Amino acid sequence: MNYKNFPMVPRVIFGRGSFNQLEELLAPNRLNRNAPFIFLVDDVFKTDGALTSRIPKSYDDKLIFVSAEEEPKTSQVDALVEEIILTSKESPSGIIGIGGGSVLDLAKAVAIMLNNEGSAENYQGWDLVKNKAVYHVGIPTISGTGAEVSRTTVLTGPKRKLGINSDFTPFDQVVLDPELVNGVPKQQWFYTGMDCFIHSVESLNGTFLNAFSESYGEMAYGICKEIYLEGKLSKKDAQDKLMMASWHGGMSIAYSQVGVAHALSYGLSYLLGTKHGIGNCIVFNHLEEFYPKDVALFKKMVIEHNIELPKGVCADLSDEDFDIMIGIALGLEPLWENAIGSNWKKTITPKKLRELYLKM
Ligand code: NAD
Ligand code: ZN
Repeated sequence: MNYKNFPMVPRVIFGRGSFNQLEELLAPNRLNRNAPFIFLVDDVFKTDGALTSRIPKSYDDKLIFVSAEEEPKTSQVDALVEEIILTSKESPSGIIGIGGGSVLDLAKAVAIMLNNEGSAENYQGWDLVKNKAVYHVGIPTISGTGAEVSRTTVLTGPKRKLGINSDFTPFDQVVLDPELVNGVPKQQWFYTGMDCFIHSVESLNGTFLNAFSESYGEMAYGICKEIYLEGKLSKKDAQDKLMMASWHGGMSIAYSQVGVAHALSYGLSYLLGTKHGIGNCIVFNHLEEFYPKDVALFKKMVIEHNIELPKGVCADLSDEDFDIMIGIALGLEPLWENAIGSNWKKTITPKKLRELYLKM
């Protein structure tokens, strides 16, 4: 057995209002006046002076608003890297991502690509990155994906939807300030929170499970149940705790893997552009045969929070569409191996996946 030596985020600050300490966190990392900090900020904050006025810009620092309407693409990463190189006197001191999983992933990918040649699509996969990334900071504004702690940045490229998984991907610094999630709309709160719930379920029920992953997975699972089922927490406590659940969910899958919902959801996302959180929910709702107890809990949560999940998303697809989607899902071999075991190919066939997709 060759055990992974897993990199963790070396510095994290947690607390309501901790965003105000950003300036003191960044200052020692400024290389010189000509090497700017680049703030990549979710454009949902464009009109939110309360956040933007607190971004500590000086010298040539830049604030770039990015849209999270679509999930990050390799071409978008390449374009941002080019823009930053063309408009900066020197290579940046750091990249700071402020937003949900989409913006956090963009920030990680841009930081990597500033120090590595070619297009981001060449690095989709495992351990393909050669040079250390530029210093990068992650500041989540919605909780659930675990992107703030993970070793990957999920990108859609021309050929595949796959992360840049590398030791250089994790943030150098994370700021967890639960006040930043105040504006998250309810539906989105549910979908992204369920991403965390599903991370814990897939990790805890996978064949790759070990004590490391289990300890984090159980914590995330317990907190999600407390928030989405028991409903006894104050709004502030629920925000604080969901931020930590997201962290634990991410840590849990770091040392195991996700499973069936993620594999199928990647297919939906690649073909139809379905976003990660909602895609996972659409899929998970039909996975009784794999995760019976937890799909039942999930259905209760859907009812509890009056969530209308989209239906019939695969109703109008052609055979060719199904082939593409099934190809993407089946290609995620480690996910199936974790979910089903090493002989997964016996039961997980294109026909089986088509039946599942047709239910959605
Ligand atoms: P998101 O970043 O796509 O954002 C969802 C929506 O919420 C957007 O409209 C955004 O503008 C809005 N939003 C974010 N913060 C807000 C706030 N405080 N107030 C109001 N609106 C706010 O959502 P997400 O679910 O966090 O991220 C999904 C992405 O994360 C996908 O691209 C997925 O691939 C990626 N992901 C990455 C990892 C990883 O380990 N790297 C893990 C899971 C998912
Ligand atoms: Zn996920």
